Amino acid sequence: MVSLRPFQATGVTEIRGAYMAGHRRVLYVLPTGGGKTYTFVYIAEQAASRGNRVCILVHRQELVDQSSRSLHAIGCQHGVIASGYRQDLRHTVQVASVQTLARRLHTIPAEFFQLVIVDEAHHAVAGTWSKVLAAMPRAHILGVTATPERLDGRGLGDQFDVMIEGPDAGWLTDEGFLVNARIFAPPGIDLSAVKRFDTKKGRTDSDTILRQGQAMGDAVTHYRRTIEDKHNGTAIAFCCSVAHAETLAQAFNDQGIAAATLDGTMDRGIRRRTINDLGTGQLKVLTSCDIISEGTDIPSVTGAILLRPTDSLGLHLQQVGRVLRPCPGKPHAVINDHVGNTLRHGLPTDPREWSLGGRPKGKGKKPSQAIPIRICMACFAAIPSAANPCPECGHVLEQARRELKVIEGDLRELTGAEMRRQERREVAQARTREELEAIAKERGYKAGWVAHMLQARGQRHGQAAFR
Ligand SMILES: [Zn+2]
Repeated sequence: MVSLRPFQATGVTEIRGAYMAGHRRVLYVLPTGGGKTYTFVYIAEQAASRGNRVCILVHRQELVDQSSRSLHAIGCQHGVIASGYRQDLRHTVQVASVQTLARRLHTIPAEFFQLVIVDEAHHAVAGTWSKVLAAMPRAHILGVTATPERLDGRGLGDQFDVMIEGPDAGWLTDEGFLVNARIFAPPGIDLSAVKRFDTKKGRTDSDTILRQGQAMGDAVTHYRRTIEDKHNGTAIAFCCSVAHAETLAQAFNDQGIAAATLDGTMDRGIRRRTINDLGTGQLKVLTSCDIISEGTDIPSVTGAILLRPTDSLGLHLQQVGRVLRPCPGKPHAVINDHVGNTLRHGLPTDPREWSLGGRPKGKGKKPSQAIPIRICMACFAAIPSAANPCPECGHVLEQARRELKVIEGDLRELTGAEMRRQERREVAQARTREELEAIAKERGYKAGWVAHMLQARGQRHGQAAFR
């Protein structure tokens, strides 16, 4: 018997309502950990039980397996359209690899499927997807994704008519469906020469910088510092290229930390075994280029090592989303962000404003409600700017602020207006004459500033507040 969580049931009702209202192409948004696959296999099973033929369209071997497993779990017989499987269209539910289906479209009768579920629907803009979806002009389409935008930040309004949003990552975390992440952003890798990360040139340039010895050493050192002794000490590292991933795995192995690389050209058995070894903890670090940002659900993995800088909020959330699933014995996840993605895109639990039209231009990359964050220079934790002392290590802000300026190439999001706000906040938070004097000394303020501040506050709060 299949039972949905209340918020999933609400999603299903809203999706039905959208079709009843006459929409043909519906997009359902649910963060990683919300049970996206479970929800759509439930919908597939329900639709099939009413006599509809359903196709679950995915773009990667791991996602074929994932959907197939979930269908099995609810006792739903199904066929698989993917290389290596015998095609059997007698089943009313089919899981199809989009690449295979595109090649076999001529073998599928027109109007065969009444419902097409598009997993990881943010990919649906690519040529192969368009070709497959165009071949089914009357089918109802249900796109599902955690990140409803294209790599360039544009929305999915050309592909879908209406968007339905489930609960956000903050709510799922509060309710225990996701774990909190402790985020560390050690400085040291200077990517300021790269203007745009997701272009071909940007990736090549980032790759060159990140394959140097220092970046490799940093990744290993900080893994040891923040991840190795947490839970089972396993981590996924996101890299710029296959060569980058291989070099990094070697760097870990050289230090006696079992690491391996996963890439798209490997055969299915090896890929499954490698992922399985990470799940059991036999393998500590799995490095990869693109292959593990989606569809690799290994809840026990504790750490994410970010070495692939991106301007794409969607890609960032997909990457960090891999380690946020809860697992017994795993109190929280750890994200070692060596490339500033967190500073660019905010925390995993930040509220996001999605729309089919994409993010409004000129509003910046961060959502308006994002909590401003800073990096503690003592422990490199990414923490709310207002938090002082650092909740991770107890370090007090004064020193941190001075060092932030030195490496502003890496932390450019925190300069300018944010820095000035931070300076004012520090003054407002100073509780004693000594604290004000420390600020004055550090910033080189004139001798009378402290007396002036004390006098001004004394007038406002009464002398007793300051001594
Ligand atoms: Zn700290």
